[in-house]
Amino acid sequence: MTDRVLVLNAGSSSLKYSLLDGGSGAPEASGSVERIGEDSGILTHSVRGQTHTEERRVADFEDALRSAVEAFERHGPEIGQDTLTAVGHRVVHGGDIFSEPALVDDRLLDTVEDLVPLAPLHNPANLEGLRVALRLFPQVPQVAVFDTAFHQTMPEHAYTYAVPLAWRDEHRIRRYGFHGTSYAFVTRRAAELLGRAVEDTNLVVLHLGNGASATAIRRGRSVDTSMGLTPLEGLVMGTRSGDLDPAIHGHLHRELGSSVADIDRALYRESGLLGLAGVNDFREVTQRRAAGDAAAMLAFDVYAYRVRKYVGAYYAALGELHAVVFTGGVGQHSPELRAAALGGLERLGIVLDPGLNDAQAPHARVVSADGSDVSVLVVPTDEEGEIARQAIAVVRRLAPDEGQG
Ligand code: ADP
Repeated sequence: MTDRVLVLNAGSSSLKYSLLDGGSGAPEASGSVERIGEDSGILTHSVRGQTHTEERRVADFEDALRSAVEAFERHGPEIGQDTLTAVGHRVVHGGDIFSEPALVDDRLLDTVEDLVPLAPLHNPANLEGLRVALRLFPQVPQVAVFDTAFHQTMPEHAYTYAVPLAWRDEHRIRRYGFHGTSYAFVTRRAAELLGRAVEDTNLVVLHLGNGASATAIRRGRSVDTSMGLTPLEGLVMGTRSGDLDPAIHGHLHRELGSSVADIDRALYRESGLLGLAGVNDFREVTQRRAAGDAAAMLAFDVYAYRVRKYVGAYYAALGELHAVVFTGGVGQHSPELRAAALGGLERLGIVLDPGLNDAQAPHARVVSADGSDVSVLVVPTDEEGEIARQAIAVVRRLAPDEGQG
């Protein structure tokens, strides 16, 4: 029998799900329940090329997951408990506790709860998703896969902020990093494409989606990453500022009387591309830029320059680099961005092939010139597939003989 995994991603007011074939990694069906708790919710279920949509109030996460199960019953495929190998959950913050995916039990729930102060927007929703799924699928092993886990290999000098000891010791202030599931998948895929063993591959990976981050990979493991305690640090994102002078907070407070909540909201929701160009969608920024819109041109330049700076910093951190890898919606689809971020770096051994870079394709590929010392790759990420694979690995590790006898 093949392995099938239901992957759940519970956000603040939404539940995304997909059912994957653990063998091929192919999604059998996927969907989402949005606007949970609001007057009217939206349910979407896609299967065999057809999308079914429904609008109705969804009271809470339990209602959301029940609605998803109903959608499977109505539109297929079947997801009875005995047809699932595991439920895989995306959990944003695993602190410095989880460096691996883990089976969900009471202790894990307590630990994720204990980490809520580090991810007040995400962990409570993730926790709710875990609890509801345990109630609805009590006989299926549930596995938590943490966004932070992949970065637990960072050395102390990379994850330590130069701040007072009490902050570091008592309040767990340090760099954690995110997008770990994506980096785990992309690192393996990139090594494959390069024909190298993962343990012998050094990369700078740029995950550029709505959220965006960069990671330095040495011998297949994360040694530095641009997101920090929270997913605000680092690159310019759709609506998040990324790096800035930490004194800006105090300055705004003194000058405008802004509250911490005001400043947080502005930096998370009203900054990044949105703050610079008035739109958070990179495609739209690119179109406006091409039409000569000055704000969009500046937004593109600030975004690309930040990416370029991180490539340089991580190249130096690694010393030896085999490839720069682009993933995420922007990384996969914007040749303009890749060219702006890496142009003129021939002396560093990075040479794009303009023809390969401009060609659009859905699969992982090389876009550097023949003979470029450092390869440049585009690798579509597969976060759901990776959660499914990691969930299966955990279940197999715990019950290695099951299904063989
Ligand atoms: P998420 O982080 O939510 O998973 P994605 O990885 O899908 O998001 O990335 C979304 C971003 O990718 C958006 O800013 C979108 O504009 C951008 N994007 C998608 N397609 C293109 C394209 N063809 N050209 C430029 N940007 C694109």
